[in-house]
Amino acid sequence: MLRVFYSDRMTIPLPDGHRFPVAKYKMLREQLVSEGVLREEEIFESPFATREQICLAHSENYVDGILNGTVDPQILKRVGFPWTPGLVQRSLATVGGCLAAARSALEFGVSGNLAGGTHHAHRDAGEGYCVFNDIAVSFLNLRSEGLIKRAAIIDLDVHQGNGNSSILGGRDDVFIFSMHGAKNYPFRKIPSTLDLNLADDTGDEEFLRLLDEALPQVFASEPEIVFYQAGVDPLKEDSLGKLSLTHEGLMERDRKVLKACRDRGIPVSLSMGGGYAKPIELTVKAHVGTYRMVKEVFGDQLRGERLAHKVRSPELGI
Ligand SMILES: [Zn+2]
Repeated sequence: MLRVFYSDRMTIPLPDGHRFPVAKYKMLREQLVSEGVLREEEIFESPFATREQICLAHSENYVDGILNGTVDPQILKRVGFPWTPGLVQRSLATVGGCLAAARSALEFGVSGNLAGGTHHAHRDAGEGYCVFNDIAVSFLNLRSEGLIKRAAIIDLDVHQGNGNSSILGGRDDVFIFSMHGAKNYPFRKIPSTLDLNLADDTGDEEFLRLLDEALPQVFASEPEIVFYQAGVDPLKEDSLGKLSLTHEGLMERDRKVLKACRDRGIPVSLSMGGGYAKPIELTVKAHVGTYRMVKEVFGDQLRGERLAHKVRSPELGI
């Protein structure tokens, strides 16, 4: 069974001309259904994460500042969104969707969130369109509930996951792999377990070769779940990416990661990550490609038995 979570019913109110492509989330969900990649009954509205869950990865002061609208304006400036009640709701749903997807992945082998990948959010402050760190919150909650002992993060968004490494770096129970543009934001990178810095204009062949080399190192850490940040901003047409991957190259990237997880029987939970192509339809097409690969790689398993015993999901009331 495949459960994919979405949160586009809550939009982030933004001023005209803002460069964050908030429209892509709903477009993606509709496109996945209209192209027959996902069925309506495979798509679930994300539950809200609770304050308590988020506070496992973030300081109470920062979390309350976001929830109450009293957060330091300088921090909001770094996040890049104006504070609104809509931003709070959307941020809670983004994290809740990641946690729900991770639980579903433990149960069925694969799941995903049509949002998130908010890998620039640090413990005390967000930045780069990231309010709360969905993967850090999800890992720390599964860990504290005793559902997993070890995890890996495979972060193939073109921007380095500096928030993942600032919150989780140095722990011996999570392997963080980030492959990203060397000369792209964030300009001060915080070391992951394995960082691959790519030159501008890196194309499919080089990207896929480096990925092939890196994946065995990730799996040697024996993760019990993989969080896959499948950002599509390495796409050649991306306005922020600076790399030169094609749509076919991105799908091959996704196939490699998903197949590596499936072949080893390791649950994988997808977060959406960045994508800023112009026109935005090219980004949506790339995100659709990721879910085509989910269906292709996990096809038989999605119709088959559960991987694990039913994982209780308090956010969903089940
Ligand atoms: Zn990005």
